[in-house]
Amino acid sequence: MKRFQCPYCGVGCGLYINEKGKVKGDFEHPANLGDICKKPLYLPKVLNRGRIAKPMYRENKSHSFREISWEEAYEILKEKLISFSPDETYFYLSGQLLTEDIYVANKFVKGFLRTNNVDANSRLCMASAVTAYKLAFGSDGVPCTYEDVDDADAFLFIGSNAAVAHPVLFKRVLKRRKEEEKVIIVTVDPLETETAKRSDVFIQIKAGTDTVFLNSVLYVLHKEGWIDYRFIYNYTEGFEEALEVAMKFPPDVAASICSVKPEDVYLVAELFAHSKKLISFWCQGLNQSLNGTMKNLALINLHLATGRLNEKGCPFSLTGQPNAMGGREVGYLTNGLPGYRDVRNKADRAFMEKFWGVKGIKKEPGPTITEAIDMILKDRIKFLWVVCTNPAVSLPNLEKVKRALEKVFLVVQDAYWNDTCEFANLILPAAQLGEKEGVMTGSDRTVTFCERFSEPFGESKPDWLIFTELARKMGAEELFPYSSPKEIFEEFKASTKGRLCDMSNLSYENLPARWGKRWLYEDLKFPTESGKARFHPARVDVAAEEGMFILLTGRLKNNWHTMTRTGKSPELLKGEIPPFVIMNPRDAEELGIEEGEEVILSAKGKEITRVVRFGNVKRGHIFAPFGYPSEYGEPTNLLTSDRTDPYSKEPDLKYSGVDVFVK
Ligand code: SF4
Repeated sequence: MKRFQCPYCGVGCGLYINEKGKVKGDFEHPANLGDICKKPLYLPKVLNRGRIAKPMYRENKSHSFREISWEEAYEILKEKLISFSPDETYFYLSGQLLTEDIYVANKFVKGFLRTNNVDANSRLCMASAVTAYKLAFGSDGVPCTYEDVDDADAFLFIGSNAAVAHPVLFKRVLKRRKEEEKVIIVTVDPLETETAKRSDVFIQIKAGTDTVFLNSVLYVLHKEGWIDYRFIYNYTEGFEEALEVAMKFPPDVAASICSVKPEDVYLVAELFAHSKKLISFWCQGLNQSLNGTMKNLALINLHLATGRLNEKGCPFSLTGQPNAMGGREVGYLTNGLPGYRDVRNKADRAFMEKFWGVKGIKKEPGPTITEAIDMILKDRIKFLWVVCTNPAVSLPNLEKVKRALEKVFLVVQDAYWNDTCEFANLILPAAQLGEKEGVMTGSDRTVTFCERFSEPFGESKPDWLIFTELARKMGAEELFPYSSPKEIFEEFKASTKGRLCDMSNLSYENLPARWGKRWLYEDLKFPTESGKARFHPARVDVAAEEGMFILLTGRLKNNWHTMTRTGKSPELLKGEIPPFVIMNPRDAEELGIEEGEEVILSAKGKEITRVVRFGNVKRGHIFAPFGYPSEYGEPTNLLTSDRTDPYSKEPDLKYSGVDVFVK
């Protein structure tokens, strides 16, 4: 029996594979207590389907690939990395890598090459939550844990379809409701999702207006005298400025902007005012937005205004990917350094330079991935190395992305052949979960050791080893002395000693274990300059794009992201292909569209075909899953906008103007 963390969503369920090759939930793991959803059940079947077996190369993209040796691959990489200046190179990592992989890649780029031109696909996922948590609490560690679900009496899901995207966690919430009659679940979303259907109250909000709605809740809390002034005075700062913005949105004003009822605003205010313990969960519905950081801050403001932390509740951002939390601990975004450090902080740079034995870590954060795409098109970035992610399907405004991928010298390092490989010069076969060892951290800071249970496919190698071997060939033997992931974990965890995310007491042998206290800010002292949590005025800038409909994108139920692995399982594909769009039946009727009919969705001069399914999506909105690769037709992200939130630089994937036509 071998234990590991599920490689899919950020719940971070502990699983094991038994002697018969069956995957089961681990009863001893705190994230899932033995529960499991459908996706990982089919993992053993898909491990070896569609894999990349050998390194492949072509200098000219119009030619076919030829298989090459690892030695030749390293020589090509070395020559390219020497011929380009560090800032002409760019690295795009993934929240699906193991922590050890990410640590070595980040050290290679920021410490050895000395450029901060590295980002991760968390930019599309959690960047707004990270930014808001840091602004409010001084760090982006999640304040509470899954245990808090077990005695909460109120749950707010806003911009989260947890029943589909985080199913085991949602089942835990449903279990809690079954235990006590008074437990209430409220969902705020433009689409009546699975989560909304199983909630006690569904508030169907217009997309892009969450900040107005949440400000209005603060308005009501203030007007009704439901604010916890003792908590505000003792533990926070900035309340007056936040309230000033909120007072512009009485419930009748907000109701008209958000297309809800004033009573809906009161209901959520009462939840914050009167429940015993309230957990608000959110995910991409708040994050992937032009106002993503403000939406997050508006929600956190409500928790601060009512003292809803620790035993009274928690603002709980649900991580999209299995190890996005690990990536944040390692500092894999453009500004990060290990141990929740930041390149902009002189002391943090000095510590890491000494710790790594390097000089000259750059103090300016690098460009984010969407900025890097623009820089490729302007010839300022000439080399792109993509690791364990599929930007040719997942990035917004794909037509532009494809032009950039066509232009740049592209390295793709992945376990599976995917759409991005079609644009590559060099392809490196990577070992995947089960073929290598290391750790991952789930949404509630629980770190899990993933054991190896199968041989690497073909000539594939662990990602950490690929960066290590290349660095050594480039003369950095002393910086990259690793012969096992354990040595890397030991080095990484030493870098966290004394930090908020101190993992120095963890070892492969004592995992799973959580870093930090159960309540990260148990003593209500925060890692901000003043030691207090900070309110922020949640300014409102409602997104607007032209089009007949607002396009919302999101996940499929049984497939993961761009389907590179789950899409190899017919059992998981069942019911999810052909690609579909959800329309409100009344909108469809007005256009003369029937259920099951094919329609054209059109935006930015691009068109995609989808089959119509009827659903209770707010009128004027449509919902289309983003993850279909090109084998099923044109990807949804051809229609989405690459406008980004000004603070987090997270793309606005939940508000694109599109037209719909009968085919
Ligand atoms: Fe995996 Fe998420 Fe399902 Fe848990 S809930 S088994 S982590 S996909």
